Amino acid sequence: MITTYFVKESLFHDSGPGHPESAGRARALNMLFIEMEKEGLTRSHETTPAQNLSLFRLAHDPDYIDFLERPGKTLPFHLDPDTSFSPGSLEAMKGLSGAISMMNREMNSSRSAFLLARPPGHHARRAAGMGFCLVNTIATQALDLLREDPTRRIAVFDFDVHHGNGTEEILGGTPGILYISTHQYPFYPGTGNGQGNHIGPMGDGILNIPLPEGTDDDDYYRAFESFILPRLTLFKPNVLLVSAGFDGHRDDPLGGFLLTEKTYRHIGKRLSSIFSSVFIVSILEGGYNLEALTKSVRSYMEGLNS
Ligand SMILES: [Zn+2]
Repeated sequence: MITTYFVKESLFHDSGPGHPESAGRARALNMLFIEMEKEGLTRSHETTPAQNLSLFRLAHDPDYIDFLERPGKTLPFHLDPDTSFSPGSLEAMKGLSGAISMMNREMNSSRSAFLLARPPGHHARRAAGMGFCLVNTIATQALDLLREDPTRRIAVFDFDVHHGNGTEEILGGTPGILYISTHQYPFYPGTGNGQGNHIGPMGDGILNIPLPEGTDDDDYYRAFESFILPRLTLFKPNVLLVSAGFDGHRDDPLGGFLLTEKTYRHIGKRLSSIFSSVFIVSILEGGYNLEALTKSVRSYMEGLNS
């Protein structure tokens, strides 16, 4: 049974008119989760926002968090041409922070969780937002879990079509953390070519798997079975955090992969069966065609549940 955490404050963040990263994404997935709960596949959980953004100081430069929290800004303003800080963005980030704390506290009561929130986070760097992302949710969650118990072994697997440059920058080299990403390359944000791959003393480290435009289900299957699962198995994580981005779908307007729901179902199924005693948290990243996004998330969740 997967517990779904819907951060309703994330609806307040506005990426701007005509922007693919819209509140409609969260609304569509919330509808899906209501449907799946009726089918007995998930159970939903309310989240409570935090008072401030302090938790994000674990992953970000304090000056950057001070800047985000500082009142008196003229809104909206842009952190980069694609990334907007809107009047509701601060509330959305407080919602995210509250959800991270809650999920980490409750991780023993559930084996698998899905965080439905926006904006995405994996491009947010230590001292800057970029690529639709204001704060790095998954990196913050990983560092909060490690602070609570430094003996934890945390794997972060990112299957969004874009490289999680922010996550790698923040978590790369942290003992006890393994970062794995598959992504289209060359492509935005231009990082993740695999040259920085390394294995640390505990099997931790970085594994980037750049894949070309046009990567389809069969290509992805081979990369997943040949490189990702063996490395994850070698590392033996006790927590698996997944940057679950669905913009590798063939109908997605941003990515250049040709994946279908089949791949997302396969990922969910294999992770769930191989890491059957590991807490698996999936955090929504990209996915910008609402129909493809909804079908892909359903397939992934059904895979995790099988
Ligand atoms: Zn993406």
